[in-house]
Amino acid sequence: MRILANDGIDPIGKKLLEEAGIEVDTQNIPQEELASKLNAYDGITVRSATKVRKELIDACPNIKVIGRGGVGMDNIDVEYARSKGVAVVNTPASSSLSVAELVFTHLFNGVRFVYDANRKMPVEGANQFNNLKKAYAKGSELRGKSIGIIGFGRIGRETAKVALGLGMDVLAYDLSEVPASLTLELSGNIKVEVPVKKVSLEELISQADFISIHTPFIEKPLLGKEEFEKMKKGVGIVNCSRGGTIDEEALIEALDSGQVAFAGLDVFDNEPTPRTAILQHPKISLTPHIGASTNEAQERIGVELANLVIDVLKG
Ligand code: NAD
Repeated sequence: MRILANDGIDPIGKKLLEEAGIEVDTQNIPQEELASKLNAYDGITVRSATKVRKELIDACPNIKVIGRGGVGMDNIDVEYARSKGVAVVNTPASSSLSVAELVFTHLFNGVRFVYDANRKMPVEGANQFNNLKKAYAKGSELRGKSIGIIGFGRIGRETAKVALGLGMDVLAYDLSEVPASLTLELSGNIKVEVPVKKVSLEELISQADFISIHTPFIEKPLLGKEEFEKMKKGVGIVNCSRGGTIDEEALIEALDSGQVAFAGLDVFDNEPTPRTAILQHPKISLTPHIGASTNEAQERIGVELANLVIDVLKG
């Protein structure tokens, strides 16, 4: 048996598959060549880059499993694959903590202007040290501030736990259930139950000092011009969910007017070619969709994905 790990797989996951007698090919076949080459395999694993659409599924009837290392399945025609008897599996929980920690990377970056200092100091640092020092003098702390979390699923809740651990207030909004409290697991096996405030989207938008989005991709942006106008002046926005959940044009306007103090973005419209106005905006802290890109998350993803694929092919 043979699978194509077209977007790569952690070495531990590869080893598990091989020990189960499944050959793993990690070459990255270009999207346009997949239809003519994939049928030589029993399955394919992808991350977010490779698309597994209806046409590819139709062209490769030998495929028995499509594995997605990660959460979002928007690059796979899941229902169609399943209707053709192809198993589709993913690893939804493996990267939640890594994404949550990236949210705080952007938040700490934002409140202390690190993103701006990193751009300016290599260019102006030696001549402008004291001016830059003055410009960045009005940072703020996160403790005691509120974070509004839109989408209180796996990643939203991990983000809330980090926030609660920092002494922030959590305002949570979700279309489905929001728990009244979360359990923080601290070192030394200490567990603490900390309350969460369930709010409406309107309350969240008008009350939060920072807002972080954790919904799946949705057709209509959750945050646009109208929403930015209702936020507290100087709010910080983080998006580590999917491009499209924020109206990027409206965000740029809100940053330019000072209504939004800064944004931290890991996801963009038009990935992998985000618009220049976003990439070059002085008030945006940027990362290239690396929410799940930690050694720990990739290892967990690799192991979980390998076991799921083994279950399908050998189970
Ligand atoms: P999840 O399914 O556990 O949680 C999503 C939550 O959003 C659910 O509770 C759902 O009810 C809620 N929701 C859906 N539509 C909503 C709406 N319109 N308003 C309010 N709430 C809504 O998913 P998750 O594991 O927490 O992942 C969230 C998203 O994060 C994924 O879909 C993926 O797009 C993204 N993600 C990004 C990275 C990255 O690298 N940046 C990595 C992993 C996941």
